[in-house]
Amino acid sequence: MREDVAALKRRFPRITSHLSQSVLDEGLSRCGTGWHSIIFEALARIDAFLDDEHASRFSLRQIKEKWGDLRIYWRLLPAPGDPEVDPKPMRIDIEGEHAILSHLWPDDVRNAVEGEITAARIRATKTCEVCGAPGDAQAHGRVRITCLTHSD
Ligand SMILES: [Zn+2]
Repeated sequence: MREDVAALKRRFPRITSHLSQSVLDEGLSRCGTGWHSIIFEALARIDAFLDDEHASRFSLRQIKEKWGDLRIYWRLLPAPGDPEVDPKPMRIDIEGEHAILSHLWPDDVRNAVEGEITAARIRATKTCEVCGAPGDAQAHGRVRITCLTHSD
């Protein structure tokens, strides 16, 4: 499934105001199409429970597959009037970024988003990255999650 950022912005207008085409293109190209519906479902759930204020500050930073693991990096941008936060490197560990910004956002919002991201990661560990069928970790040079048909 091919999604451009405009389509995603139409689908989830509240949580994609900070999303760039490059982040989306890079993210979707770095994990197989079998995982795309998992990513979009996680975004739909996040979109459904964030209120307008938090949704307008939600920023998807990076999506990728690494060692058979779906990684979704995000942050909640400071609200107007919040103290300035130093720019962080893109590859910062997700927990590290949360710790730094935790004073800026409520625990229940953070936990809810984290819960959806974790649920997506768990689904991905059982889903073929190529076709979306039930899959498992296969190590052929590198670890990937695939069904038997796509296990190389
Ligand atoms: Zn497959």
